[in-house]
Amino acid sequence: MGMKIRHRYFLALLIPLLWPAFESANAQRSDRPLKAGLSSVVITPAKPMWMAGYAARTKPSEGALHDLHAKALAIEDGAGRRVVLVTSDLLGFPQALAEGIAARANKQYKLTRDQLILNSSHTHSGPVVRKSLIGAYDLPPEQAALIDAYSAEIEGKIVEMIGQALRDLAPAKISYGVGYAGFAMNRRQPTPSGIINGVYPEGVVERDVPVLRIESPDGKLRGVVFGYACHNTTLTGQFYQFSGDYAGFASLAIERAHPGARALFVAGCGADINPYPRSKLELAEQHGNELAQAVEKVLAGGKLTPVAGRIRTAFDRALLPFANPPSREEFQARLKDQNVYVRRHAERMLGRLARDGKLIAAYPCPVQVLRIGEDFTMVAIGGEVVTDYSLRLKKEIKGRVWVAGYSNDVFAYVPSARMFPEGGYEVNESMLYYDHPVSFKPEIEEIIIRRVHELASRTKN
Ligand SMILES: [Zn+2]
Repeated sequence: MGMKIRHRYFLALLIPLLWPAFESANAQRSDRPLKAGLSSVVITPAKPMWMAGYAARTKPSEGALHDLHAKALAIEDGAGRRVVLVTSDLLGFPQALAEGIAARANKQYKLTRDQLILNSSHTHSGPVVRKSLIGAYDLPPEQAALIDAYSAEIEGKIVEMIGQALRDLAPAKISYGVGYAGFAMNRRQPTPSGIINGVYPEGVVERDVPVLRIESPDGKLRGVVFGYACHNTTLTGQFYQFSGDYAGFASLAIERAHPGARALFVAGCGADINPYPRSKLELAEQHGNELAQAVEKVLAGGKLTPVAGRIRTAFDRALLPFANPPSREEFQARLKDQNVYVRRHAERMLGRLARDGKLIAAYPCPVQVLRIGEDFTMVAIGGEVVTDYSLRLKKEIKGRVWVAGYSNDVFAYVPSARMFPEGGYEVNESMLYYDHPVSFKPEIEEIIIRRVHELASRTKN
Protein backbone atom coordinates (compact mmCIF):
# COMPACT_ATOMS: atom_id res chain seq x y z
CA MET A 1 0.00 0.00 0.00
CA GLY A 2 2.72 2.42 1.06
CA MET A 3 4.78 1.46 -1.95
CA LYS A 4 1.88 2.12 -4.29
CA ILE A 5 1.31 5.60 -2.94
CA ARG A 6 4.98 6.44 -3.23
CA HIS A 7 5.00 5.08 -6.78
CA ARG A 8 2.07 7.24 -7.76
CA TYR A 9 3.68 10.28 -6.14
CA PHE A 10 6.84 9.60 -8.11
CA LEU A 11 4.90 9.44 -11.39
CA ALA A 12 3.03 12.64 -10.62
CA LEU A 13 6.39 14.36 -10.15
CA LEU A 14 7.87 12.82 -13.26
CA ILE A 15 5.11 13.71 -15.76
CA PRO A 16 5.51 17.50 -15.50
CA LEU A 17 9.27 17.05 -15.72
CA LEU A 18 9.04 14.95 -18.86
CA TRP A 19 6.26 16.97 -20.52
CA PRO A 20 8.50 19.60 -22.16
CA ALA A 21 10.67 16.81 -23.61
CA PHE A 22 7.55 15.08 -24.99
CA GLU A 23 6.34 18.35 -26.50
CA SER A 24 9.61 19.11 -28.21
CA ALA A 25 9.91 15.56 -29.52
CA ASN A 26 6.48 16.02 -31.04
CA ALA A 27 7.50 19.33 -32.58
CA GLN A 28 10.60 17.69 -34.02
CA ARG A 29 8.46 14.95 -35.53
CA SER A 30 6.32 17.63 -37.17
CA ASP A 31 9.43 19.21 -38.65
CA ARG A 32 10.41 15.95 -40.30
CA PRO A 33 9.87 15.96 -44.07
CA LEU A 34 6.47 15.08 -45.39
CA LYS A 35 5.83 11.80 -47.12
CA ALA A 36 3.80 11.57 -50.32
CA GLY A 37 2.27 8.69 -52.23
CA LEU A 38 0.60 8.66 -55.65
CA SER A 39 -1.62 6.26 -57.56
CA SER A 40 -4.10 6.22 -60.41
CA VAL A 41 -6.69 3.96 -61.98
CA VAL A 42 -8.42 3.89 -65.38
CA ILE A 43 -12.19 4.39 -65.05
CA THR A 44 -13.17 4.44 -68.73
CA PRO A 45 -16.41 2.43 -69.03
CA ALA A 46 -16.02 -0.84 -70.89
CA LYS A 47 -19.39 -0.48 -72.63
CA PRO A 48 -21.13 2.44 -74.38
CA MET A 49 -22.77 4.51 -71.63
CA TRP A 50 -24.91 7.60 -71.29
CA MET A 51 -22.72 10.68 -70.94
CA ALA A 52 -23.03 13.21 -68.14
CA GLY A 53 -23.70 16.93 -68.17
CA TYR A 54 -25.79 17.74 -71.24
CA ALA A 55 -29.51 17.05 -71.26
CA ALA A 56 -29.69 17.25 -75.06
CA ARG A 57 -27.69 14.07 -75.79
CA THR A 58 -29.80 11.40 -77.47
CA LYS A 59 -27.62 8.26 -77.44
CA PRO A 60 -24.85 6.56 -75.43
CA SER A 61 -21.10 7.15 -75.87
CA GLU A 62 -19.18 6.07 -78.95
CA GLY A 63 -15.64 5.16 -77.87
CA ALA A 64 -13.05 7.31 -76.13
CA LEU A 65 -10.61 10.05 -77.17
CA HIS A 66 -8.39 9.03 -74.25
CA ASP A 67 -8.84 7.10 -71.01
CA LEU A 68 -10.68 8.55 -68.02
CA HIS A 69 -8.81 8.33 -64.69
CA ALA A 70 -9.17 8.69 -60.98
CA LYS A 71 -5.93 9.64 -59.22
CA ALA A 72 -4.82 9.96 -55.62
CA LEU A 73 -2.20 11.92 -53.70
CA ALA A 74 -1.60 10.82 -50.10
CA ILE A 75 0.42 13.07 -47.78
CA GLU A 76 1.64 12.17 -44.28
CA ASP A 77 3.39 14.45 -41.80
CA GLY A 78 6.12 13.60 -39.30
CA ALA A 79 3.57 12.71 -36.63
CA GLY A 80 1.74 10.27 -38.93
CA ARG A 81 -1.25 12.52 -39.71
CA ARG A 82 -2.58 11.87 -43.18
CA VAL A 83 -4.70 13.32 -45.94
CA VAL A 84 -5.67 11.83 -49.31
CA LEU A 85 -6.74 13.97 -52.25
CA VAL A 86 -8.66 12.11 -54.97
CA THR A 87 -9.23 13.67 -58.40
CA SER A 88 -11.36 12.21 -61.18
CA ASP A 89 -12.55 12.59 -64.78
CA LEU A 90 -16.18 12.66 -63.65
CA LEU A 91 -18.93 15.29 -63.74
CA GLY A 92 -19.09 15.10 -59.96
CA PHE A 93 -19.13 12.69 -57.05
CA PRO A 94 -22.74 12.44 -55.88
CA GLN A 95 -23.18 12.15 -52.10
CA ALA A 96 -23.93 8.39 -52.12
CA LEU A 97 -20.78 7.53 -54.09
CA ALA A 98 -18.56 9.89 -52.06
CA GLU A 99 -19.83 8.55 -48.74
CA GLY A 100 -19.57 4.95 -49.97
CA ILE A 101 -15.89 5.53 -50.80
CA ALA A 102 -15.28 7.40 -47.52
CA ALA A 103 -16.88 4.66 -45.40
CA ARG A 104 -14.77 1.94 -47.01
CA ALA A 105 -11.58 4.04 -46.79
CA ASN A 106 -12.34 4.49 -43.09
CA LYS A 107 -12.82 0.77 -42.55
CA GLN A 108 -9.83 -0.37 -44.60
CA TYR A 109 -7.28 2.40 -44.00
CA LYS A 110 -8.62 4.19 -40.89
CA LEU A 111 -8.93 7.45 -42.85
CA THR A 112 -11.44 9.70 -41.13
CA ARG A 113 -13.89 11.71 -43.26
CA ASP A 114 -11.87 14.91 -42.88
CA GLN A 115 -8.77 13.12 -44.22
CA LEU A 116 -10.30 12.38 -47.62
CA ILE A 117 -10.99 15.03 -50.29
CA LEU A 118 -12.92 13.81 -53.36
CA ASN A 119 -12.74 16.28 -56.26
CA SER A 120 -14.09 15.83 -59.78
CA SER A 121 -12.98 17.64 -62.94
CA HIS A 122 -16.59 18.24 -64.07
CA THR A 123 -15.87 16.89 -67.55
CA HIS A 124 -19.10 16.70 -69.56
CA SER A 125 -17.54 13.89 -71.63
CA GLY A 126 -17.65 11.25 -68.89
CA PRO A 127 -20.30 8.68 -67.98
CA VAL A 128 -23.40 9.33 -65.88
CA VAL A 129 -22.93 8.16 -62.29
CA ARG A 130 -25.76 6.95 -60.06
CA LYS A 131 -28.01 9.69 -58.63
CA SER A 132 -26.02 12.50 -60.22
CA LEU A 133 -27.99 15.23 -62.07
CA ILE A 134 -30.64 12.61 -62.64
CA GLY A 135 -33.34 15.06 -63.79
CA ALA A 136 -31.36 15.85 -66.92
CA TYR A 137 -31.37 12.62 -68.89
CA ASP A 138 -33.77 10.65 -71.00
CA LEU A 139 -32.36 7.26 -70.04
CA PRO A 140 -33.36 3.97 -71.65
CA PRO A 141 -33.88 1.31 -68.90
CA GLU A 142 -30.80 -0.75 -69.86
CA GLN A 143 -28.68 2.39 -69.36
CA ALA A 144 -29.97 2.81 -65.80
CA ALA A 145 -28.71 -0.71 -64.99
CA LEU A 146 -25.32 0.02 -66.58
CA ILE A 147 -25.03 3.23 -64.54
CA ASP A 148 -25.66 1.32 -61.30
CA ALA A 149 -23.09 -1.34 -62.18
CA TYR A 150 -20.50 1.27 -63.26
CA SER A 151 -20.99 3.31 -60.07
CA ALA A 152 -20.43 0.22 -57.91
CA GLU A 153 -17.36 -0.71 -59.97
CA ILE A 154 -15.63 2.69 -59.65
CA GLU A 155 -16.40 2.84 -55.93
CA GLY A 156 -14.31 -0.32 -55.49
CA LYS A 157 -11.59 0.88 -57.88
CA ILE A 158 -11.21 4.24 -56.13
CA VAL A 159 -11.04 2.63 -52.66
CA GLU A 160 -8.32 0.28 -53.93
CA MET A 161 -6.46 3.22 -55.52
CA ILE A 162 -6.51 5.14 -52.19
CA GLY A 163 -4.84 2.12 -50.59
CA GLN A 164 -2.15 2.13 -53.30
CA ALA A 165 -1.38 5.82 -52.68
CA LEU A 166 -1.01 5.11 -48.93
CA ARG A 167 1.32 2.16 -49.64
CA ASP A 168 3.35 4.45 -51.93
CA LEU A 169 4.07 6.98 -49.10
CA ALA A 170 7.76 7.93 -49.17
CA PRO A 171 9.73 11.05 -48.14
CA ALA A 172 8.95 13.93 -50.47
CA LYS A 173 9.61 17.59 -51.06
CA ILE A 174 6.40 19.47 -51.72
CA SER A 175 6.24 23.03 -53.02
CA TYR A 176 3.57 25.43 -54.22
CA GLY A 177 3.37 28.08 -56.92
CA VAL A 178 0.77 29.87 -59.05
CA GLY A 179 0.70 30.28 -62.82
CA TYR A 180 -1.72 31.81 -65.31
CA ALA A 181 -3.87 30.50 -68.17
CA GLY A 182 -6.13 32.81 -70.14
CA PHE A 183 -9.00 30.75 -71.58
CA ALA A 184 -11.43 31.07 -68.63
CA MET A 185 -14.32 33.42 -69.49
CA ASN A 186 -17.31 34.56 -67.45
CA ARG A 187 -20.50 33.18 -69.02
CA ARG A 188 -23.25 35.11 -67.21
CA GLN A 189 -24.02 37.48 -70.07
CA PRO A 190 -26.62 40.19 -69.29
CA THR A 191 -29.24 40.68 -72.04
CA PRO A 192 -32.50 42.67 -72.15
CA SER A 193 -34.34 39.44 -71.24
CA GLY A 194 -32.02 38.57 -68.34
CA ILE A 195 -28.79 36.66 -67.75
CA ILE A 196 -28.03 34.00 -70.37
CA ASN A 197 -25.31 31.33 -70.59
CA GLY A 198 -23.16 33.27 -73.03
CA VAL A 199 -19.85 35.13 -73.08
CA TYR A 200 -19.26 38.07 -70.74
CA PRO A 201 -15.70 39.47 -70.87
CA GLU A 202 -16.58 42.14 -68.25
CA GLY A 203 -17.63 39.52 -65.69
CA VAL A 204 -15.50 38.21 -62.79
CA VAL A 205 -12.97 35.51 -63.59
CA GLU A 206 -10.01 33.93 -61.86
CA ARG A 207 -7.25 32.75 -64.17
CA ASP A 208 -4.81 31.44 -61.54
CA VAL A 209 -3.26 28.02 -62.03
CA PRO A 210 -2.32 26.78 -58.54
CA VAL A 211 0.36 24.07 -58.63
CA LEU A 212 1.75 21.62 -56.06
CA ARG A 213 5.05 20.01 -57.08
CA ILE A 214 5.84 16.67 -55.43
CA GLU A 215 9.43 15.49 -55.72
CA SER A 216 11.56 12.73 -54.27
CA PRO A 217 14.31 13.97 -51.89
CA ASP A 218 16.81 13.80 -54.79
CA GLY A 219 14.67 16.10 -56.92
CA LYS A 220 12.89 13.66 -59.23
CA LEU A 221 9.34 14.80 -60.11
CA ARG A 222 6.79 12.28 -58.78
CA GLY A 223 3.59 14.23 -59.18
CA VAL A 224 1.90 17.53 -59.95
CA VAL A 225 -1.43 18.75 -58.64
CA PHE A 226 -2.81 21.67 -60.64
CA GLY A 227 -6.07 23.56 -60.68
CA TYR A 228 -8.18 25.93 -62.74
CA ALA A 229 -11.53 27.60 -62.04
CA CYS A 230 -13.42 27.03 -65.29
CA HIS A 231 -16.13 24.64 -66.49
CA ASN A 232 -14.48 21.60 -68.07
CA THR A 233 -16.78 21.96 -71.06
CA THR A 234 -14.88 22.83 -74.22
CA LEU A 235 -16.69 19.84 -75.73
CA THR A 236 -20.44 20.39 -76.04
CA GLY A 237 -23.39 17.99 -76.29
CA GLN A 238 -22.75 16.88 -79.89
CA PHE A 239 -19.56 15.03 -78.80
CA TYR A 240 -20.03 11.34 -78.00
CA GLN A 241 -16.51 10.17 -77.18
CA PHE A 242 -15.33 9.86 -73.59
CA SER A 243 -12.59 12.30 -72.57
CA GLY A 244 -11.38 14.44 -69.69
CA ASP A 245 -11.91 17.58 -71.88
CA TYR A 246 -9.26 20.32 -71.41
CA ALA A 247 -8.29 19.01 -67.96
CA GLY A 248 -7.75 15.52 -69.40
CA PHE A 249 -5.63 16.89 -72.26
CA ALA A 250 -3.59 19.00 -69.80
CA SER A 251 -2.89 15.98 -67.55
CA LEU A 252 -1.85 13.90 -70.57
CA ALA A 253 0.56 16.62 -71.76
CA ILE A 254 2.15 16.98 -68.30
CA GLU A 255 2.54 13.22 -67.85
CA ARG A 256 4.02 12.89 -71.35
CA ALA A 257 6.62 15.56 -70.52
CA HIS A 258 7.51 13.86 -67.19
CA PRO A 259 7.50 10.07 -67.62
CA GLY A 260 6.68 8.32 -64.35
CA ALA A 261 5.05 11.39 -62.77
CA ARG A 262 1.30 11.70 -62.22
CA ALA A 263 -0.72 14.85 -62.96
CA LEU A 264 -3.86 15.48 -60.90
CA PHE A 265 -6.37 18.16 -61.91
CA VAL A 266 -8.44 19.90 -59.20
CA ALA A 267 -11.54 21.80 -60.35
CA GLY A 268 -11.77 25.27 -58.80
CA CYS A 269 -14.73 27.60 -58.29
CA GLY A 270 -15.54 27.98 -61.99
CA ALA A 271 -19.27 27.33 -62.04
CA ASP A 272 -20.01 30.69 -63.74
CA ILE A 273 -17.03 30.34 -66.09
CA ASN A 274 -16.69 28.56 -69.45
CA PRO A 275 -13.64 27.88 -71.60
CA TYR A 276 -13.42 30.37 -74.48
CA PRO A 277 -13.67 29.63 -77.32
CA ARG A 278 -15.32 26.20 -77.20
CA SER A 279 -17.35 23.52 -79.06
CA LYS A 280 -14.48 22.12 -81.16
CA LEU A 281 -12.28 19.13 -80.40
CA GLU A 282 -9.09 21.03 -81.34
CA LEU A 283 -9.98 23.68 -78.76
CA ALA A 284 -10.16 21.12 -75.92
CA GLU A 285 -6.62 20.04 -76.78
CA GLN A 286 -5.49 23.65 -77.26
CA HIS A 287 -6.83 24.74 -73.84
CA GLY A 288 -5.32 21.61 -72.28
CA ASN A 289 -1.93 22.45 -73.76
CA GLU A 290 -2.19 26.07 -72.59
CA LEU A 291 -2.94 24.86 -69.07
CA ALA A 292 -0.08 22.31 -69.20
CA GLN A 293 2.32 25.03 -70.35
CA ALA A 294 1.20 27.24 -67.45
CA VAL A 295 2.01 24.34 -65.10
CA GLU A 296 5.42 23.75 -66.76
CA LYS A 297 6.27 27.43 -66.33
CA VAL A 298 5.56 27.18 -62.60
CA LEU A 299 7.59 23.95 -62.30
CA ALA A 300 10.57 25.53 -64.09
CA GLY A 301 10.25 29.10 -62.93
CA GLY A 302 11.86 28.92 -59.50
CA LYS A 303 8.98 30.77 -57.81
CA LEU A 304 7.84 27.72 -55.87
CA THR A 305 7.75 27.96 -52.09
CA PRO A 306 8.04 24.92 -49.79
CA VAL A 307 4.97 23.32 -48.21
CA ALA A 308 5.97 21.65 -44.94
CA GLY A 309 4.90 21.07 -41.36
CA ARG A 310 1.91 19.61 -39.60
CA ILE A 311 -1.15 18.34 -41.48
CA ARG A 312 -4.52 19.30 -40.04
CA THR A 313 -7.90 18.59 -41.60
CA ALA A 314 -11.53 19.46 -40.82
CA PHE A 315 -14.79 18.45 -42.50
CA ASP A 316 -18.37 19.42 -41.86
CA ARG A 317 -21.59 20.23 -43.69
CA ALA A 318 -23.29 23.60 -44.06
CA LEU A 319 -27.07 23.40 -44.29
CA LEU A 320 -28.18 25.50 -47.27
CA PRO A 321 -31.81 26.65 -47.11
CA PHE A 322 -34.12 26.65 -50.13
CA ALA A 323 -36.52 29.52 -50.85
CA ASN A 324 -40.23 28.83 -50.33
CA PRO A 325 -41.21 26.15 -52.86
CA PRO A 326 -44.11 26.50 -55.31
CA SER A 327 -47.46 25.20 -54.04
CA ARG A 328 -49.03 21.90 -55.12
CA GLU A 329 -51.36 23.90 -57.40
CA GLU A 330 -48.41 25.69 -59.02
CA PHE A 331 -46.65 22.37 -59.70
CA GLN A 332 -49.92 20.99 -61.10
CA ALA A 333 -50.16 23.95 -63.48
CA ARG A 334 -46.59 23.24 -64.61
CA LEU A 335 -47.62 19.77 -65.81
CA LYS A 336 -48.90 21.59 -68.93
CA ASP A 337 -45.69 23.59 -69.44
CA GLN A 338 -44.12 23.57 -72.93
CA ASN A 339 -40.70 22.65 -71.49
CA VAL A 340 -40.32 18.89 -70.94
CA TYR A 341 -37.83 19.44 -68.06
CA VAL A 342 -40.28 21.72 -66.24
CA ARG A 343 -43.03 19.09 -66.69
CA ARG A 344 -40.86 16.22 -65.46
CA HIS A 345 -39.61 18.23 -62.49
CA ALA A 346 -43.20 19.10 -61.53
CA GLU A 347 -44.15 15.40 -61.75
CA ARG A 348 -41.31 14.40 -59.43
CA MET A 349 -42.10 17.16 -56.93
CA LEU A 350 -45.82 16.23 -56.89
CA GLY A 351 -44.79 12.60 -56.36
CA ARG A 352 -42.70 13.61 -53.35
CA LEU A 353 -45.47 15.79 -51.95
CA ALA A 354 -47.84 12.83 -52.23
CA ARG A 355 -45.32 10.52 -50.54
CA ASP A 356 -43.86 12.79 -47.80
CA GLY A 357 -46.41 15.61 -47.53
CA LYS A 358 -43.57 18.13 -47.98
CA LEU A 359 -40.38 18.92 -49.89
CA ILE A 360 -36.91 19.19 -48.35
CA ALA A 361 -36.20 22.64 -46.88
CA ALA A 362 -32.37 22.60 -47.01
CA TYR A 363 -29.40 20.68 -48.42
CA PRO A 364 -26.21 19.76 -46.48
CA CYS A 365 -23.22 21.08 -48.46
CA PRO A 366 -19.86 19.50 -47.54
CA VAL A 367 -17.13 21.96 -46.54
CA GLN A 368 -13.55 20.87 -45.88
CA VAL A 369 -10.27 22.50 -44.93
CA LEU A 370 -6.75 21.07 -45.23
CA ARG A 371 -3.88 22.98 -43.66
CA ILE A 372 -0.23 22.05 -44.06
CA GLY A 373 2.20 23.95 -41.86
CA GLU A 374 1.11 27.42 -40.82
CA ASP A 375 0.26 29.07 -44.11
CA PHE A 376 -0.85 26.58 -46.78
CA THR A 377 -4.62 26.10 -46.81
CA MET A 378 -6.78 24.14 -49.23
CA VAL A 379 -10.53 24.76 -48.96
CA ALA A 380 -12.81 22.22 -50.69
CA ILE A 381 -16.50 23.08 -51.09
CA GLY A 382 -19.25 20.85 -52.49
CA GLY A 383 -21.43 21.73 -55.45
CA GLU A 384 -20.78 23.87 -58.51
CA VAL A 385 -19.25 26.84 -56.73
CA VAL A 386 -19.02 30.24 -58.46
CA THR A 387 -15.85 32.37 -58.64
CA ASP A 388 -16.97 34.92 -56.01
CA TYR A 389 -16.37 32.33 -53.24
CA SER A 390 -12.76 31.76 -54.20
CA LEU A 391 -12.01 35.47 -54.63
CA ARG A 392 -13.56 36.21 -51.23
CA LEU A 393 -11.88 33.36 -49.33
CA LYS A 394 -8.46 34.24 -50.77
CA LYS A 395 -8.91 37.74 -49.32
CA GLU A 396 -10.21 36.55 -45.97
CA ILE A 397 -7.81 33.68 -45.20
CA LYS A 398 -4.15 34.50 -44.57
CA GLY A 399 -1.29 32.81 -46.40
CA ARG A 400 -1.32 30.63 -49.49
CA VAL A 401 -4.91 29.61 -50.21
CA TRP A 402 -6.26 27.16 -52.80
CA VAL A 403 -10.06 26.99 -53.11
CA ALA A 404 -11.58 23.94 -54.85
CA GLY A 405 -15.23 23.48 -55.81
CA TYR A 406 -16.85 20.25 -57.06
CA SER A 407 -15.69 18.44 -53.92
CA ASN A 408 -17.27 15.57 -51.95
CA ASP A 409 -20.79 16.02 -53.40
CA VAL A 410 -21.87 17.83 -56.56
CA PHE A 411 -25.52 18.41 -55.65
CA ALA A 412 -26.38 21.80 -57.28
CA TYR A 413 -24.93 25.14 -58.30
CA VAL A 414 -23.72 27.29 -55.41
CA PRO A 415 -24.32 30.91 -56.47
CA SER A 416 -23.11 33.92 -54.48
CA ALA A 417 -25.53 36.31 -52.75
CA ARG A 418 -25.26 39.04 -55.40
CA MET A 419 -26.42 36.63 -58.14
CA PHE A 420 -29.86 35.98 -56.66
CA PRO A 421 -31.46 39.25 -57.82
CA GLU A 422 -29.71 38.81 -61.19
CA GLY A 423 -31.15 35.31 -61.74
CA GLY A 424 -29.87 33.09 -64.56
CA TYR A 425 -29.09 29.40 -65.00
CA GLU A 426 -26.83 29.00 -61.95
CA VAL A 427 -29.48 30.49 -59.63
CA ASN A 428 -32.72 29.13 -61.10
CA GLU A 429 -33.02 26.78 -64.10
CA SER A 430 -30.23 24.39 -63.04
CA MET A 431 -32.33 23.38 -60.01
CA LEU A 432 -34.72 21.54 -62.36
CA TYR A 433 -31.94 19.20 -63.48
CA TYR A 434 -30.49 18.81 -60.00
CA ASP A 435 -33.93 17.80 -58.86
CA HIS A 436 -34.35 20.39 -56.11
CA PRO A 437 -37.75 21.95 -55.30
CA VAL A 438 -36.68 25.56 -55.89
CA SER A 439 -33.66 27.94 -55.78
CA PHE A 440 -31.57 28.42 -52.64
CA LYS A 441 -31.86 31.53 -50.49
CA PRO A 442 -29.18 34.24 -50.93
CA GLU A 443 -28.04 33.58 -47.32
CA ILE A 444 -26.15 30.48 -48.50
CA GLU A 445 -23.04 32.57 -49.22
CA GLU A 446 -22.69 33.72 -45.59
CA ILE A 447 -23.55 30.23 -44.29
CA ILE A 448 -20.79 28.61 -46.36
CA ILE A 449 -18.18 31.30 -45.72
CA ARG A 450 -18.86 31.18 -41.96
CA ARG A 451 -18.45 27.39 -41.95
CA VAL A 452 -15.16 27.63 -43.90
CA HIS A 453 -13.78 30.08 -41.31
CA GLU A 454 -14.90 27.82 -38.44
CA LEU A 455 -13.09 24.87 -39.99
CA ALA A 456 -10.03 26.98 -40.84
CA SER A 457 -9.73 28.09 -37.21
CA ARG A 458 -10.15 24.47 -36.06
CA THR A 459 -7.10 23.55 -38.20
CA LYS A 460 -4.92 26.19 -36.51
CA ASN A 461 -4.24 24.01 -33.47
ZN1 LIG B 1 -21.64 22.65 -64.48
